[in-house]
Amino acid sequence: MFVDVNKNYDTGNPGDTSAVKVQTWNRNVITELEAELSGVEHALTRLEKGIYDTCEQCGNKIDLSEIQEDPLITRCQQHRGCIR
Ligand SMILES: [Zn+2]
Repeated sequence: MFVDVNKNYDTGNPGDTSAVKVQTWNRNVITELEAELSGVEHALTRLEKGIYDTCEQCGNKIDLSEIQEDPLITRCQQHRGCIR
C-alpha cells in the first residue's frame, strides 16, 4: 500500500488517533528503508574496494556462501553478533 507521507490523514475527530498512527508508521518505514539503503551503499563500497569478503572486525575472509545468503554482511561468523 502506498501512503503519501506528506498527506494529512487527520479525520477531524479529536479522539481519532489514526492520523498519528499513520505518521508513526511512516516514520518507522522510512527509518527502516534508510537503514537498509545505507547497508546496501556500504556493501557496494566494499564491493568496489574489493573487500566485500573481508571481515571488518578481524580481516579474515567471510565465507562466500554466507555473502550469497546475505550480501550485506560485513563480519565473519565469529564476529557477526557484535554489530551489523
Ligand atoms: Zn571476524
